[in-house]
Amino acid sequence: MSNNRNLAPKGFSSLVPGVWRASTVVFDDMDKFARRKENLFDGYTYGTTGTPTSRELEARIAVLEGGGHCVVVPSGQAALCLSVLSFVKAGDHVLIADCAYGPLKNFARDWLQGLGVDCTFYPPSIGAGIVDLFTPRTRLVTMESPGSVTMEMQDVPAIAAAARQAGAISLVDNTWATPLGFKPLDHGVDLVVEAASKQFGGHSDVLLGSITTRDRTLYERLRRSQSVLGLPVSPDDCFLVLRGLETLAVRVQAQGRAAEKVAAFLAGQAEVAEVFYPPLPGARGHDLWKRDFQASGCVMSFALADSVDERRVAAFVNALDTFAIGASWGSVHSLAGYYPAAEQASRTHAVTQSAVVRLSIGLEGEDALLADLRQAFAASRNALP
Ligand SMILES: *Cc1c(COP(=O)(O)O)cnc(C)c1O
Repeated sequence: MSNNRNLAPKGFSSLVPGVWRASTVVFDDMDKFARRKENLFDGYTYGTTGTPTSRELEARIAVLEGGGHCVVVPSGQAALCLSVLSFVKAGDHVLIADCAYGPLKNFARDWLQGLGVDCTFYPPSIGAGIVDLFTPRTRLVTMESPGSVTMEMQDVPAIAAAARQAGAISLVDNTWATPLGFKPLDHGVDLVVEAASKQFGGHSDVLLGSITTRDRTLYERLRRSQSVLGLPVSPDDCFLVLRGLETLAVRVQAQGRAAEKVAAFLAGQAEVAEVFYPPLPGARGHDLWKRDFQASGCVMSFALADSVDERRVAAFVNALDTFAIGASWGSVHSLAGYYPAAEQASRTHAVTQSAVVRLSIGLEGEDALLADLRQAFAASRNALP
């Protein structure tokens, strides 16, 4: 090894992927340097588009999703925006589920429309009826199932088939299910996005996103977009997600089982008008969940009964102790979030007009979580008239 090169040490091997840091990738000779762009899709050209650590993570996510190609980017939101920007141009039309992750909707409304891309927010429950919304300019359809906050289930196979028929690209944000619960690529979807910050990472300590596809052409476009937009990922962050993936299956199973218990408990509370959690029998979207999904996600929401005023909601949330108050979800740490009634009212296709509380179920154990919820409901009852 010369003093200005760093190759994998000979005679060493371990169970852990190496963390390779690099801005510069070094080449053997001038010819290889001149032709470095040929390595963009399968090898190494420059730190922005990958080191062995990010490529290892991409390979493992691709296997989980049942896809051939994956690009990891700095966050789930970056994965959504990169996917959209890679495939649309001025004059195109995009269909976005009204239950999509809020910042994607903001991006569509405040940035894409300004770039001359026409966006339609369609009702998540539309199913095969989406055929009527395609125009000759429709380039992309995005889905999220279940949707952010109110957990609407979508008929992914029907919407993907309609997109294919219309010559449009389909995308699913699969963060809730993870590929262990649902594999969109097996249902005719072109692109699957995961916010790896959530269940993949699993410990509230990393932000990362992934986009996976079976289509080589789509993959190459995504990789080139990552390069021109300058979206490198930290190898240390990739390492944290690689480590998270080692326990993904047991965490999904344990958190899902505890979440089912919590959802059943919530359904029995007088203050709760509706529990949004598709694995719960009788819940909205349960039939689609049962038809397509193999696992229960760890995040759910509930709408509060009309009789519960906002001060009692605040008393409930503030009384929580095992649940921390914060955005994000999917971690071993349980979280509570609050979405005011006005936020639902501002949606085009809302399923409730009430304030919504979202709970992410971690690994503290269902007894501790149920006890915390019981005392918080008691505190809210005692708070005010
Ligand atoms: C959190 C989240 C995202 C964004 O992920 P970040 O890594 O936080 O940017 C995207 N989609 C869904 C469904 C999410 O819950």
